[in-house]
Amino acid sequence: MTSSYRGRLAPSPTGYLHLGHARTFWTAYQRAREADGVLVMRNEDLDPQRSKPEYAVAMLDDLRWLGIRWQEGPDVTGSGGGLYAPYEQSRRRQFYLEAWSRLVQTQFVYPCRCSRKDLARSAQAPHDEEDEPLYPGTCRPIGGDIVVPESPAGVNWRFRVPDGQVISFHDGHFGPQQFIAGRDFGDFLVWRRDDVPAYQLAVVVDDAAMRITEVVRGADLLRSTARQILVHRTLGLEPPLWYHCPLMHDARGLRLAKRHDALSLRALRERGMTPDQVVAIFDSAEAASSRSKS
Ligand code: GLU
Repeated sequence: MTSSYRGRLAPSPTGYLHLGHARTFWTAYQRAREADGVLVMRNEDLDPQRSKPEYAVAMLDDLRWLGIRWQEGPDVTGSGGGLYAPYEQSRRRQFYLEAWSRLVQTQFVYPCRCSRKDLARSAQAPHDEEDEPLYPGTCRPIGGDIVVPESPAGVNWRFRVPDGQVISFHDGHFGPQQFIAGRDFGDFLVWRRDDVPAYQLAVVVDDAAMRITEVVRGADLLRSTARQILVHRTLGLEPPLWYHCPLMHDARGLRLAKRHDALSLRALRERGMTPDQVVAIFDSAEAASSRSKS
């Protein structure tokens, strides 16, 4: 018998997973186990330009090698791969379209014709240094009704944030959090003009549809959590609980990212490291961060 806890692993197949990702996923796995709950694997292959099937195969394989197990996911057979299939974002377009159309009906999103660099990356989670710049509001409508078009394609769609509103939430690791809409983040993208849903919309829709009760992910997504709470509320959905993990840095103090090929799980495996040795690195990082806190 499992509890009602439902966690998720949501890797993007845009490169090999590195130690930093693995540590977050390890934490997600431990938390689901401690709660005697279910862990869902979701392949976040939303961005057609950057996602590669070979990375999707590698991420599942590397996480399994590390010892992480999940009960639902694209590779879990039996009863159609799980109750909330499909578990690949590229196959969930219908869910995102429905949410987009509801958001347009509520007048919380509007079409935007601005061409900005941030559009290119919006199907991916904005990890701190590449976070969207504050939108200056050029296309924000002054009034009037936006009608729901046949399809979102052709223009970008932005979520209109309630300027000055404080978005607060409790984080299971970092404690109370607060962000101010319009100051810490501006009107953000929910759909790209080339007809790709944005990460901020897809992740909310999927976490709700898959009945996720706690989201475990890296601390570089704290600000995105505030954005997503707004989307949850606007769609009338109950947000999950949040647990953000501290980030890992390299010897020069840079946050680990996919550019750190030498620290990919793949490379460590090839160099003969064992899963236990990898987990021991997480444990010592944990000990170091609790020493620096005290
Ligand atoms: N696929 C996202 C990433 O790679 C996951 C973000 C999240 O956990 O919401 O960062």
